[in-house]
Amino acid sequence: MASALRLFSFRDIQVRVHWTFLLLIGWIVFSVLSGGQGFREVLVGIVLVLVVFTCVVLHEFGHALTARHFGVNTRNITLYPIGGVASLERMPEEPKQEFLITLAGPLVNLAIVLLAGTVHLLLAGLRFVQDPFEGGPMLLTLSSFLIVVNAMLFLFNLIPAFPMDGGRILRSLLAMAMPRTRATRIAANIGRLFALGFMAYGLFNGQPFLVLIGVFVLLAASGEARLVSTQAALHGIPASRVMRTLFWRMDAGATVQQAVDELLAGGDKDLIVQDRGAYLGVLHESDLMKALQEGRAQARLSDLRPKAAPPVKPDADIGQVYLQLMQGKWNILPVLDGERLAGIVELENLSEFIQVREATGGAGS
Ligand SMILES: [Zn+2]
Repeated sequence: MASALRLFSFRDIQVRVHWTFLLLIGWIVFSVLSGGQGFREVLVGIVLVLVVFTCVVLHEFGHALTARHFGVNTRNITLYPIGGVASLERMPEEPKQEFLITLAGPLVNLAIVLLAGTVHLLLAGLRFVQDPFEGGPMLLTLSSFLIVVNAMLFLFNLIPAFPMDGGRILRSLLAMAMPRTRATRIAANIGRLFALGFMAYGLFNGQPFLVLIGVFVLLAASGEARLVSTQAALHGIPASRVMRTLFWRMDAGATVQQAVDELLAGGDKDLIVQDRGAYLGVLHESDLMKALQEGRAQARLSDLRPKAAPPVKPDADIGQVYLQLMQGKWNILPVLDGERLAGIVELENLSEFIQVREATGGAGS
């Protein structure tokens, strides 16, 4: 993705920084200089931000590596001005696993507090450096700063504002005693309350980042609550009942020009490519347009390397398929009955299915 810059990979997990991070650096430069301080202080400010975000990265790796322990991969870790996000491929529905994966992040910060605290005690006893700008021995300033920052990260993340860590921990605890949908609804409502609190406090106290975090929590809480309730509505329904059996498909030997002609005559956005009747992969209309621009109108569809969207079995739980689609990597997934291409599943026809079910009062389930 062009909106984020890759920094490095550790254990196959890529760490990236989102471009909006520049706004944070700009804001620090501005606020330090407008406070009448010089470039040395700007430099100190930027170094401190880097230290904070190193701790944030370690926190996210706490989530990611615990998730891996339960067989869940992490696509990447992205740093935003308001914090880091580890994009797990899915969150386990097993409450105990969600609890442990979520708790692991704040525990990393707690571990840093204890480590930096021990170093600090050995070096300086109870003398604490209050202000990192005040100067003094480098190591003491650093250990003081690490203790304060990580204690704050630990406490702040444990605020039960779903989907922040504390809110997820709350959801997983509730889900041990009640259905996950209900646990999510309760956690999301509490999350929205906290979000409004963050925004109000941030506005009246001139803290723009707290306002941003509030907006983020508000949107994310609603989104995730909707996700879980839709998934619950679809749970247990086989893919064969929801799939589209009328869809656009062509043979791998057809040309780009033929595909474009069919697209104009009423094709979908995604084209299923078959090789002598067997499923090969998916091409998006943008792939066809790109080939046209490159003057490859007579190229075969197989030359465009159709992407192998993972097939779904006809009896697969459509609730799970829905989560897969919501991750946004694929627009459509093929339904394969053995070798035979039986249909496709896409978000649009899933939401139509839900609408039909609601309109008919859940009849036909
Ligand atoms: Zn976290």
